[in-house]
Amino acid sequence: MDKRKNKHRYLLSIRNRIFVFAILVTAIPSLSMGLLLQNMLQTTLEEKVKQKFVDSAQIMEREISLWLKKRVYDLTVFSNASIVSDAVTAYLKMPEKKADGIKNRLPTIKILETYLSTLQHQFKDYVRIFVLSRTGAVIASSESGGRDRPFVFPDDYTEQISDRQWFKGPAYFDSRDKSSLILIGVPLFLDQLYEYETLLAIEVRLTGLLPLLDPAKFGDSGDWTYESLVDVDTGRQFLYGRGGKKVLNEITLSPLAGRHMLREYVNGAGERLMGLVVPFRELSWGLFIAEDYEKTFSGLIHARHRNIMIVCCFSVFMAIVAYLLTRQIMVPLSALTRGAERVAEGDLDVRLPVHRNDEIGFATNVFNEMVAKLKLSQAKLEQLATTDPLTGLNNRKRLMSILRDHYAYYRRYKTEFSVLMLDVDHFKAVNDTYGHQAGDTVLKQVAEIFSENLRNVDAAGRYGGEEFLVILAESGEEESIQAAERIRKAVSSHTVIHDAREIQVNISIGIGRIHKQDPDEQKIVGRADMALYRAKEEGRNRVVYQAAGEQ
Ligand code: GH3
Ligand code: MG
Ligand code: MG
Repeated sequence: MDKRKNKHRYLLSIRNRIFVFAILVTAIPSLSMGLLLQNMLQTTLEEKVKQKFVDSAQIMEREISLWLKKRVYDLTVFSNASIVSDAVTAYLKMPEKKADGIKNRLPTIKILETYLSTLQHQFKDYVRIFVLSRTGAVIASSESGGRDRPFVFPDDYTEQISDRQWFKGPAYFDSRDKSSLILIGVPLFLDQLYEYETLLAIEVRLTGLLPLLDPAKFGDSGDWTYESLVDVDTGRQFLYGRGGKKVLNEITLSPLAGRHMLREYVNGAGERLMGLVVPFRELSWGLFIAEDYEKTFSGLIHARHRNIMIVCCFSVFMAIVAYLLTRQIMVPLSALTRGAERVAEGDLDVRLPVHRNDEIGFATNVFNEMVAKLKLSQAKLEQLATTDPLTGLNNRKRLMSILRDHYAYYRRYKTEFSVLMLDVDHFKAVNDTYGHQAGDTVLKQVAEIFSENLRNVDAAGRYGGEEFLVILAESGEEESIQAAERIRKAVSSHTVIHDAREIQVNISIGIGRIHKQDPDEQKIVGRADMALYRAKEEGRNRVVYQAAGEQ
């Protein structure tokens, strides 16, 4: 229970609060500054990377356009051959219904196919060259056996032709050829009547584009980017640059990926990449470029580590400062607490050293002054409790305590002592004649005479009324009688002056000496009292010694 309470107190201690405060005050601003800088740096870096990617993509788009235009140009040249127009004219002149059934048997078509086949063998990228109907049906093909093999014909080819006089289909993978292919075609303009009833198309391998996708082409940073061509409508990647297939092929891109957004991607191997899909303006393709995340942000990661280091160093430094600061407060504070505990236990001799001129030094000074004042008032109280207010001598209670000490000392060390019992003679008459105040003056001056005629080791006190008691340390019969006589004579020869009136008083003194058979200190008082009685009896103004056993 106590332990828990202490622990609780420890947690809430000023030292801990200052510690926590120092660490928070350091960590919060430096962390937020760090985060802010980090964000700024990240944005700048991303912007830079994005720009680099976009620049690459623009170069790529230009090159791909050129590549396509070259194919279109070739097609246009082929389409102008008379073999093509002859065959197509013959085909179109046939009645509609018969056309499909007999076209293979048309000799002109056969000639055309031989022509197409010759062309195809001249270009290694070409898989097939076709003449197609508007519906995409094959009229003639360079590869007679592969006539029925599927290819992907674009739905929107008429729009494409009216836009730019040629069309291209989406990229598709041909399992027999084990490569990505597309269809590129031009309309066959025969005459005004048959305006593009048929199309001349090539099925071409995209591997011809691979050299364009080699990132080494694009500046110094190109050698560690990975690139692929993407169909923007489906998000499907269909051609990978060097090393790209391994890194990029498990990444799924959404069809709307063409938003120029640099994003983080994670591939199947769990590698983090920063990538961007840049859609081309004219084609429905885009370029997906990505690079290793750590490579992009290596500067940023370094900066983050440096930030964390700086925050840690600052925090440690502040913790040390806080420790030294709290030590400056806690050490004098615990000295004050220990001092206060000693005072609470009754020790008023506590005095704390003051080394400093600050608030703590001031508090220590105040503490010391407070203890000194406490000690003074305690001494005053003690004096009040032990002295007689009229004469300033010991009061009866104090006197009895001193007597007990003497008795105990005697019991132990056999140092004998005597007691004098003194009483003013006919004091009632003094009061009656001169008044009570004069009586008080007499008592005061008599008390002064006692004090003047005693040694330091002796003790005098007011026993009651006009009776006094004197304890003479280490005094036997002879010494005590001498001392008593000296006092008696001093009083007799003294004249008290009160209100210009002279008052003369005498005293009677009874002496008792300690005896080894005395069971307590009261015995000696009784003996002195008895002697005083006898002194009064025998005529007053005298000293009577009462030997033990005389009573
Ligand atoms: P004796 O010689 O037998 O001692 O005669 P006495 O008159 O001194 O004896 P008694 O004991 O009858 O009188 C003591 C008087 O002392 C009585 C009292 O009024 C007076 N007295 C006691 N205390 C004080 C005091 O403090 N001041 C004054 N002024 N008088 C006191
Ligand atoms: Mg008396
Ligand atoms: Mg008297």
